[in-house]
Amino acid sequence: MSKLQAPRGTFDVLPDDADAREAVEREARRVLEAAGYRRVETPTFEATELFARGVGEATDIVRKEMFTFEDQGGRSLTLRPEGTAPVCRAYVEHGMHKHAQPVRLWYLSSFYRHEAPQAGRYRQFWQVGAEAIGSDDPAVDAETILLLADLLDALNTHGIRLRISSLGTPETRAAYREELQAYLRAHEERLPREVAERIDLNPLRAFDAAGIEDLMADAPKLLDRLDADDAAHFAEVRRLLDGAGVHYDVDPTLVRGLDYYTRTVFEFESSELGAQSGVGGGGRYDRLVEMIGGPDTPGCGWAAGVERILLAADRPPVAPPPVDLYVAFVRPGDRATAFALAGEARRAGLGAQLELAGRSLKGQLKQADRVGARFVAILGEEGTELRDMESGDQRAVDAGRVVREVIRGREL
Ligand code: ATP
Ligand code: MG
Repeated sequence: MSKLQAPRGTFDVLPDDADAREAVEREARRVLEAAGYRRVETPTFEATELFARGVGEATDIVRKEMFTFEDQGGRSLTLRPEGTAPVCRAYVEHGMHKHAQPVRLWYLSSFYRHEAPQAGRYRQFWQVGAEAIGSDDPAVDAETILLLADLLDALNTHGIRLRISSLGTPETRAAYREELQAYLRAHEERLPREVAERIDLNPLRAFDAAGIEDLMADAPKLLDRLDADDAAHFAEVRRLLDGAGVHYDVDPTLVRGLDYYTRTVFEFESSELGAQSGVGGGGRYDRLVEMIGGPDTPGCGWAAGVERILLAADRPPVAPPPVDLYVAFVRPGDRATAFALAGEARRAGLGAQLELAGRSLKGQLKQADRVGARFVAILGEEGTELRDMESGDQRAVDAGRVVREVIRGREL
C-alpha cells in the first residue's frame, strides 16, 4: 500500500520542535500575564459569516484563503483563519462588556489558510495573540506593541524591525480611498495589471506592489489625511513608545490584510526570514465588535506566527528530560517489582524509566547511559543493586530504600 503523508502545507511537530514551541508558550504566558492578560480558547471552526463580516469580504483571507465546509445540517463553517474575530465573538457571547474594561485575553492556537506552502508559510500554523477589548485609550495601543516587542526580545528573535501607522476611521479612509483611486486612475498606464484590476476593490494594496515604488512614493498618504482626534491618538501612541524606548519606523504605506483595523496598525518583521518577513502584527479595531453584532466597543491587539518566531530566533540546544533512575531487570519474574518501583519513583518526583524492550543486562546499561540516567537500579537474583552512573560505584540496597537513596544521591 502507498505510504500516507501529512497534507500539503501542514507539518508534524516532533519532540525537539515541541520543546522550542513550549518555550514560546511559556514566555508568552509570562510576558502577557504580567500585564493582566488571561488565556482564552475558542473553537477551531466558526460560522463562516463571522469571518465574512469580521475579516471583510474584500480581503485575501476571505476571498481565497479559507477552508470552508458545510456540516451535516447544511451550515457553512470555516476553520479559523485568524483569532481576533473569534475572540471578539466570545467577548460578545459571554457579555464581557460587563467586566472591568479593557478585557485582556491571550491565546496560542492553530489557524488555517489555503495559501501556497513555502518556508514560513503553511496551511495550518500557530499564532500567539493578545487582544485588549473595551478601551480606546492610546496607552492600550502602545502597551500591546510593547508587549509583543518584549516577547520577541525574550525569545531572542533577530533582525526585528517595527513599523507603525494609523489608518484613521473608516470615514476618513473612504474619502482617502477615493482620492487614491483618482490618483491611480490618473496613472493607470504605469500600473501592473493586478493593481489596475483592483483599483476599485482594494487600492491600498498598490503600496505593496513591486515595480511602482516611485509612483507610490508620490501618492497621497492616509497619514496626512487623519482627522484631529485620530492624529492626536497616533501622536500619543508614539509618545508612549518613545518614552518606553521602543524603536519603530512610521510607515504611511503600511496596510494590513484585514478590513477591521482603525487608527493604529503595526507590523514586526525580521530580516532573517527572507520573503515571508512578517513575524507579527496587529492594530486597533474599534468597529469590529459592533460589526459582528455586539455593542459599540473599541479593541486593539496582535497576532504573531509561532513558526516565524522560531525561524527568527536562536534555538538553544534542547535538553531531554532528566532520568534520575533507570530500572533494569533480567528475569521476567522481576518485571512487576521493576514496574512498581518505576511508578513509585515518579510519584516521588523523580524522572524514572523502566526497561521496555527486553534488552540483556548489558544492553540495558547501555540504554541507561544513552538516556543519561543518573542511577540504575538492577533487580537481580541476589536482590537489588544501585549503580551510580557518574562514579561507576555499585552496591546492594534494600529494595524499599531505592527511591530514598536516589533522592539523597541526586542531591550530593
Ligand atoms: P503575510 O503577509 O506573511 O501573509 P499576514 O499579514 O497575512 O502575513 P496576519 O494575518 O497579520 O499575517 O497574521 C499574523 C502573523 O501570523 C504573521 O505575521 C505571520 O507571522 C503569521 N502567519 C500568517 N499567515 C501564515 C501562514 N500561512 N503560515 C505561517 N504563519 C503565518
Ligand atoms: Mg497573509
